[in-house]
This record gives sequence, structure tokens and C-alpha cells, in this order.
Amino acid sequence: MSHVFPRNSNKLPPVGKVGAGVHLFDADGKAYFDGSGGAAVSCLGHGDQDVIDAIKSQLDSMAFAHTGFLSSDPAEALADLLVLHAPEGLEHVYFVSGGSEAVEAALKLARQYFVEIGQPQRSKIIARRQSYHGNTLGALAVGGNEWRRAQFAPLLIDVSHISPCYEYREKHDGETTFDFGQRMANELEDEILRLGADQVMAFIAEPVVGATMGAVPSVEGYFKRIREICDKYGVLLILDEVMCGMGRTGTLFAADQEDISPDICTIAKGLGAGYQPIGAMLCSGKIYHAIKDGSGFFQHGHTYVGHPTACAAGLAVVQKLTGGLVDQVASKGQQLTDMLNDAFGQNPLVGDIRGRGLFIGMEFVADRDTKAVLDPSHKFNARLKAAAFDAGLICYPMGGTIDGKHGDHVLLAPPFISEPHHFEEVVDKLGAAVAKVSADLGL
Ligand code: PMP
Repeated sequence: MSHVFPRNSNKLPPVGKVGAGVHLFDADGKAYFDGSGGAAVSCLGHGDQDVIDAIKSQLDSMAFAHTGFLSSDPAEALADLLVLHAPEGLEHVYFVSGGSEAVEAALKLARQYFVEIGQPQRSKIIARRQSYHGNTLGALAVGGNEWRRAQFAPLLIDVSHISPCYEYREKHDGETTFDFGQRMANELEDEILRLGADQVMAFIAEPVVGATMGAVPSVEGYFKRIREICDKYGVLLILDEVMCGMGRTGTLFAADQEDISPDICTIAKGLGAGYQPIGAMLCSGKIYHAIKDGSGFFQHGHTYVGHPTACAAGLAVVQKLTGGLVDQVASKGQQLTDMLNDAFGQNPLVGDIRGRGLFIGMEFVADRDTKAVLDPSHKFNARLKAAAFDAGLICYPMGGTIDGKHGDHVLLAPPFISEPHHFEEVVDKLGAAVAKVSADLGL
């Protein structure tokens, strides 16, 4: 019997033994294509020797030092490199151990900023439905996934949620894509006014929605309008790039493609690429200086903030990403999207294929014309996950049972080192899994 608390209590997973390139191997030697990098983590694939060497060398020199006493070379160098490539205005970096911690830090930083500048009445946060920001209580509260929130609702701070920018399901017939985006963004203004403009501290959103909806980018002009509204009412804009950042969408920061800068940005997952647990929060000079020149310190912290070995891994990863790898993501993403369109474009169960870069989602429907969702009792996404896994493909299906407002989907986020023949493997295995699940369900 295993004493490890299992992720899914009714089935113990096989034991993973080896990671090599785009594949993982279990104890029986079975190979799995890592088609989602877990959940958009393994951007470099497995066994990257440069990252491994960087970690070993840091372990040899200084594995850990508490940042209450000492900084470290890799933390300083990684912060410099991130700021060099970050959207304009993001000038300071706070390292944590993962995505939820980054979101918690962002929320507390936003709150402290308003206390420091003499607007302590600002405490309200606006987020979006069908979003995911993490599983700790603050992050869960801003998240808009009803299913994840439900049983913990009494423990969560009060947060307002507006509509996501979900073109496939929310755009009206006859509405232009641009007008649709403006309509969705204007919900933020309505909500700020409803809550009281001087009460709201922050709006948080994923530039490309990952875990809850399966790679849903916003439409052109949406985030520009969001930025305008935040500026008009003095509300901080927090972009959560934990999943879609670090090159996943084709630029190091997803915000670059929206042509805006947030006040605060969270990253994780691809930052450590799975070699070490690390996340970060970047913030503007305005926020940093308000705190530095005010009380003098950010009232937050965890033991492993700025962990030197994690930062050494992150530094090696970001050096690779910015050294040419991210430049390949857009064209590779297009290749995979084209192949998915060829394979599934006519499939009556596939309603939408969307995404950005190597962050691609496919939404399943019962009827392509009406976009009716599949019966949640089919548990299509859970079956698809199991069938794909049996076929040797790790992918990330979700949806359906979450709130009935969107269909089951599968998220693909393969390593950036994938080549076209790897994409053929993904499409073949996914095709076999979809065929098996549809046959089993008689669809
Ligand atoms: N924000 C987003 C956008 C995420 O996708 C996730 C994880 N899926 C998180 C935050 C939480 O990150 P972690 O699981 O590392 O705590």
C-alpha cells in the first residue's frame, strides 16, 4: 500500500521512472508523450542537461540561504533577466515556490500598496468567471471555477466575478469580434461602479485562460480596454501568467501580445520548467516605491522565498527560453493547430480548436450547430484523460462538470523542443483516445 496521499483517491497512478526529451517512462517502461507538460510546466521537456548542471552547481556552492539574511547570485541574475524581458514598467521581482503563492503575494501586495498610499478603503477585488488562480484560499477566492470553490465557499473572501472573454460561447450573432471584446471588458467598468470606484483595489485575469477553459485567448482590443478602465478608476491590473507565461503563447510574457503592461504579473510553471518549484511576482516601480518609501517592507514572506537552487534552475530555463527557444513557439503552435484542424476539424464532437502558441485547447460538444455541451454524466473529459493515458499520451482534459457553461475540453501544452513528428504522435494518440471514448459512449 502506498502512503502517498493520492491526487485521485480512487486510482493510484503508475510510478514514473525516467524523463527524456518529450517523453516520460513508467516503471514498466511504458512511454508517455508529455503533451501537456503536466499542466503547462515542462516547456523544455525532460532531462535538459544545462538546467540539471546549473542546479548541481548551485547545490555544490550554496543550496539555500534565507533571504531574511542573504540574497544569492542566481536570484539576482534571474530577477535582472526577467525584468529585461518583462513588459514595460515591471521592475521588481518577488520569488516564491509556485503559482498559488505568486497569486497570494500579488493580492497582498495590491492591498498593501493602497494602505501605503493612504487609500485603505480599497479592498475589493474583481476577477472573472471560469478562471483558475490557484488552490490556496486567496487564490481560490479570486478563481472563478464554481466546482473548485463550492465546498470551501464559507472560507473565501468576497470577490466579484465578471464574464470571461470567451468568444466561442459569449459572442452574439452579428456582433463584430472587436465589439464583443469591448462589451466583455466594459463589464469591468460596470462592476467597479457598482462596488464603488474608490473601494476597488484590483482586477485579476489570465491573459489566456488555461486550466478552467482550455486555452481561451481574449479578442483584440479586450485587454487594452481593460487597461483603460483600470487606469480611469485607479484600479491595479494583475495578470496571472502562471500557466500562459514563460513563452507558452509565443512571447516570453503573454501580455506582450496584448500590447499592455500590467501593474503586477504572476508567473510559475514554465519558469522552473519542472526542474525546481519556483514562481514569481513582478511589480511596477510605482508599487515597489510606495512600499519602500512608506513602511519600508512588504509584509509577506515564506521560508523558501528566493530559494537559490530554484532560482539557479529558473535562470538556466529563462536563458534557454530567451536564447531562441521562445521564438520557435508561434510557428510550432501553428503546425500543431493545423494538424489538429486536419484531424478533428470535421469531427462532429469537436466544436472549437483555439489557443495561442503551444497552448492549445479543443472543446467537445454534443452538437456543433447549437454548441450544446455533452451530458456531464458521460464524464467525457475524465474518460478522455484515461483513454489518452492508456494510448501513451499525457494531456489535460477538463470542463463539462464544472458549471455546465462550457463544454468538456482538452488542453495541449507540449514542450517547446517538440518537432513535427512529435506532433504526429500527439494527434494520432489523441485521435485514438477520442475514437475510443466516443465508441464507448455510443456518440
Ligand atoms: N494561476 C494559474 C493561471 C494557474 O493555471 C495555476 C495552476 N494551474 C495557478 C495559478 C496555481 O499554480 P500552482 O498550482 O503552482 O499553485
